[in-house]
Amino acid sequence: MSVILDGFPASEGIAWGRIRTIPWGVPSVPHEVIEDDDIEAQIALFAEARAAARERLRELKARTQERLGPVEARIFDPQILMVDDEMVVRGTEQYIRDTKLTAARAFEWRMLEVRAQWARTANPMVLDRMNDLEDLKVRILRHLLGQRDPLDLSSSGEALVVVASNLTPSLIAQLDPAQVVALATDQGTRTSHWAILARSQGIPAVVGLGDASRRVREGQEAIVDGRIGRIVLDPDDRDQNVYEDRRSQIRRLEAEVDEVARLESVTADGQPVALRANLDLPVEADNARRHGAAGIGLFRTEFLVVGRNSMPDEDEQYEAYRSVAESFEGDAVYLRLFDLGGDKFPSFIHMPPQENPFLGWRAVRVLLDEPELFRVQLRAILRATAHGDVRIMVPLVNDVEEVQRVRALLEEEEDGLRRDGVPFNRGYKLGVMIETPAAALDAAELARHADFFSIGTNDLVQYTLAVDRNNARLARLFNPFHPSVVRQLHSVARVARAAGIEVSVCGEMAATSLGAFLCIGLDITALSVAWPALPELKKVVREVRIEDARRAARKALAAATAHDVLEALAEGIGDTIDLSAYIGRWNLSVGS
Ligand code: PEP
Ligand code: MG
Repeated sequence: MSVILDGFPASEGIAWGRIRTIPWGVPSVPHEVIEDDDIEAQIALFAEARAAARERLRELKARTQERLGPVEARIFDPQILMVDDEMVVRGTEQYIRDTKLTAARAFEWRMLEVRAQWARTANPMVLDRMNDLEDLKVRILRHLLGQRDPLDLSSSGEALVVVASNLTPSLIAQLDPAQVVALATDQGTRTSHWAILARSQGIPAVVGLGDASRRVREGQEAIVDGRIGRIVLDPDDRDQNVYEDRRSQIRRLEAEVDEVARLESVTADGQPVALRANLDLPVEADNARRHGAAGIGLFRTEFLVVGRNSMPDEDEQYEAYRSVAESFEGDAVYLRLFDLGGDKFPSFIHMPPQENPFLGWRAVRVLLDEPELFRVQLRAILRATAHGDVRIMVPLVNDVEEVQRVRALLEEEEDGLRRDGVPFNRGYKLGVMIETPAAALDAAELARHADFFSIGTNDLVQYTLAVDRNNARLARLFNPFHPSVVRQLHSVARVARAAGIEVSVCGEMAATSLGAFLCIGLDITALSVAWPALPELKKVVREVRIEDARRAARKALAAATAHDVLEALAEGIGDTIDLSAYIGRWNLSVGS
């Protein structure tokens, strides 16, 4: 019997292989006391282990830079700095001298203390950094104990699904993407740094699987579906068929990518639908274009900042924004202002612990409180407007005042640029993300101050249903087809139409066939999704008819439950569209 484990999608794609667990845990360190005359030798040994770790991390950084580019490579900087952290180095040396412990034992103790200090915060960003701290600890301890790296996967030659409690950027950089076909972890989130690296390399990944690493067996067969955040262990014939179909469909699509990219994105009855890509890192722009993106509907600019020790300066940001704008000449590029907070925080901003980070100091709230940091971004974006159709999008807006304050800051920066004779496009558009029920309910007011709306369903679902988007236990409750969400989409779209402004959806639901069908039926005809989903989405768009979508959306709007919404959509979309991904996930029975 197959076993299904549901977590969260972290990197698109579907893959099949044999499980290989990575025991990247802290090795057990024997308690040994040394003689006085061994003290200096142990201190030297510690320095040697640090030098080896530093060198290895630099090597991984260089390899990542070569493979993916400078932004991804910088993910290693905090760890490289940590190697020589005063608190860690002096503390360990003192333990060696004062308590006559071996270097390994003294270092282990010191790291436990540092970890305890960090653990007092509830900030998920610091918790993400703890992962880096742990990685470094394992690396140095292994060296001190003379143990080899457990990542020697070379012998098997089989397609491997790597399962671990959690991963780290340095582990990902060591994996060979030709052999490791997918990743699955107990912990981690889509925004964990290793997940960003996995996405950039196109390795499917599922996170937040609870205790998967303890439930799997070495060598067990597994299917990883990074599109919906699921792994299937010991797949039975039925699973194999479903996934084999799906995989060959994806392969066909991959083979046809160039051809599909050239096709027009219109429904069977002639309604154009703008399909754009969501971008986390500039390096993805090429892939987005190749997959047929008609522009970038959401550039999550905060990934330029997260994981850094210092803020990227104006020129560095400008270059990143400009390069994306130039890659999409003639198409719109929506740059979202830093959405920091929640689970994304750079180490250089002092972040007090927050009980509920997603209900806390996040997105536009941070920006308005940190004008110095914010102005640098605004100037960089304004300069980039000279190189394409760059639009500016404000995250997590709750009310008009926030938009007015952002606009006022923009105007001040515009004045500065004019004074300095720096070119920018005066006619750029400023829009808001609709991500909270407050914004959805107040959309008519917001429409008076915004040039467009972009509905972020990931957050809108989270805040509407009070379901944490990162909590694996609640994965089944995180349902974008809940009637309350459908009604908000409908009402926001209606308000936008009445105000004559564009409305689009850039949350993950738009990448699902039924989600896209619903949006089209609600006359939301601009969608932005992760680039790997674009070819399939375009095929869906070209198969459906807007009249059928409208009819199904009307039924969905009258539905009492999420299940009824899904049934109405599945019934309306027709039987040529593959709905296997929905079965089980949200209890859709049609087609099962
Ligand atoms: C969203 O909330 O739907 C969205 C697109 O933004 P993010 O996932 O980056 O929060
Ligand atoms: Mg959001």
